[in-house]
Amino acid sequence: MLEKPQWLKRTFRDNSNLNYVREMLSALHLNTICDEAMCPNYVECFTKKTATFMILGVNCTRNCRFCNVTNREPQEIDANEPSRVAEAVFKLGLKYVVITSVTRDDLPDGGAAHFAATIRAIHELCPDTAVEVLIPDFLGNKEALKIVTDANPEVISHNIETVKALYDQVRPQAIYERSLDVLKSIKLLAPHIRSKTGIMLGLGENDSQVYEVMEDLRAVGCEFLTIGQYLAPSSAHHPVQEYITPEAFDHYGQIAKEKGFAFVASAPFVRSSYHAAEALEAEK
Ligand code: SF4
Ligand code: SF4
Repeated sequence: MLEKPQWLKRTFRDNSNLNYVREMLSALHLNTICDEAMCPNYVECFTKKTATFMILGVNCTRNCRFCNVTNREPQEIDANEPSRVAEAVFKLGLKYVVITSVTRDDLPDGGAAHFAATIRAIHELCPDTAVEVLIPDFLGNKEALKIVTDANPEVISHNIETVKALYDQVRPQAIYERSLDVLKSIKLLAPHIRSKTGIMLGLGENDSQVYEVMEDLRAVGCEFLTIGQYLAPSSAHHPVQEYITPEAFDHYGQIAKEKGFAFVASAPFVRSSYHAAEALEAEK
């Protein structure tokens, strides 16, 4: 196993609000990808009273080799979850919120209606809050995607995650072209909604493959891009092949901007929901 470099070791002095956020999430029976994915930023994000809510349960129908989310029997849909998410957004005073989910290939609409109900519940209770949804690929189902675009979130994100050549190894139930098509369809269905994606580095990709993903993403009109370091959740997951230096992240970020993305965040701790509000703020 590769030893973690210094730049990935962090200590947090301020952890105020951590308990408040935890207790509120627990009282409202809400899940976060921050916890389920063991995100390295959770102390920072919870301290700032922000979190990424994960709807539709904690069990995923897929088994990506980089992901800590459990691959078990999917749970019943909780019809009250959208209003509880909205309540949490209200209590936290969030002006920007990211909602994601496990992948629900067992549902005919992949959970799209539940996403739509959550977007509407937040907009109704918190009309000034921008909503970003980080959606699964819905198995390429365009009607399902339209259910989400019709609910009018400010940003729709779908993570391409890695380069095409690594899909079979790390994302075996996904299809590179299908994910690109989801991003393309967002702009075709709702040109006013911003489209976003994220990739992880350190899974074993090379430079030219990364540039190729960037070009493929721009070709389907993807506007916002996040690039971060892959960290293996356990020794049973796909091993980290390389720790990318902060300077190399800056370089990739610069290349991405030159390729035409409207907003790029590229640094070791960047996750698709990290400082997510910045992309829209940058456009004001
Ligand atoms: Fe949660 Fe995203 Fe922050 Fe990670 S970066 S703790 S997933 S909000
Ligand atoms: Fe994790 Fe998403 Fe893959 Fe499910 S589909 S295992 S939640 S990355």
